[in-house]
Amino acid sequence: MQAEEYDEQSEVADVEEGMEDQGPLPIQHLEQVGVSASDVKKLNEAGYYTVESVAYTPRKQLLTIKGFAEAKVDKILAEAAKLVPMGFTTAADYHQKRSELMHITTGSTELDKLLGGHGIETGSITEIFGEFRTGKSQICHTLAVTCQLDEASGGASGKCLYIDTEGTFRPERLVEIAERYNLDPNEVLDNVAYARAFNSDHQTALLSQASMLMTESRFSLLVVDSSTALYRTDYSGRGELSARQMHLARFLRTLLRLADEFGIAVVITNQVVAQVDGGMAMFAADPKKPIGGNIIAHASTTRLSLRKGRGETRVCKIYDSPCLPESEAVFAITAQGIADAKD
Ligand code: ATP
Ligand code: MG
Repeated sequence: MQAEEYDEQSEVADVEEGMEDQGPLPIQHLEQVGVSASDVKKLNEAGYYTVESVAYTPRKQLLTIKGFAEAKVDKILAEAAKLVPMGFTTAADYHQKRSELMHITTGSTELDKLLGGHGIETGSITEIFGEFRTGKSQICHTLAVTCQLDEASGGASGKCLYIDTEGTFRPERLVEIAERYNLDPNEVLDNVAYARAFNSDHQTALLSQASMLMTESRFSLLVVDSSTALYRTDYSGRGELSARQMHLARFLRTLLRLADEFGIAVVITNQVVAQVDGGMAMFAADPKKPIGGNIIAHASTTRLSLRKGRGETRVCKIYDSPCLPESEAVFAITAQGIADAKD
């Protein structure tokens, strides 16, 4: 009995050591470099769970924490900066870091190929936009399962966080997809942390809970389906546009930070609207535009545009990517998730 307990303890210690090597540093680490336990607690309560999250935060935002005066913030930032590499690096090092990125299969080899070979990338935001029923949510459901596969099978060996703003998440779909990949459906469901977001403030608040979960175990994917729907209902009319964009920008900045800090893939979906600004819609080559304007365009590394094809097929086009050509792929929506179209 005693031996068993001992074994369990040493296993826990191993896991923690492993996390220190690669993963982000838990915020408690700051205590070892002279930040008081009560200040660490305040940071924690303000939604900062890792040293990285503090290091990447603008000074003026930390000053909004109660009891954090300039001298204190400067000291904390200085200590965080010593622990987190934030300066210039050589292109060779950066290339090495990028080669550590992992990929998550979409379920369709054609779609994976379009994405550079192996699916969506960890460490950045992939935006999927398109009209209703084009398969945005179906791709999210498939990725929620495939992210759990090991690397050799096309996954990133991590759990999934799923923020659902429209109430369209269906766990029974995950069961069908899990069976396709010979995964235990119950285990797959256990590995998905699901939250329904009810308004844009709540959607943002969920991200700090998400970062807490991510310090506790290995996640490889965060889904927000849809990232903009609640903004459309919470902010209406031209008068609220700038407030909406500011809030959305903050939400996306937090997503980017999580992608970077935890090396997870972030997938957000987005709707399209007819382009009416300036009355030029008639002349525009692409009359339907994703919502969110430049704010989303700047935050998303890869933007995928979906449209309907024949029957259950859909066409995906790379809309905007720093390193992928603007080409297209055809895929199908099946009972077991996204797959290649049969022709
Ligand atoms: P919205 O903008 O309304 O959220 P969406 O782009 O998220 O739309 P999805 O819900 O991903 O659209 O896709 C809907 C499509 O998926 C429908 O055409 C439907 O036929 C197909 N689909 C849904 N479930 C299944 C299933 N079990 N088997 C096969 N096809 C399915
Ligand atoms: Mg949907």
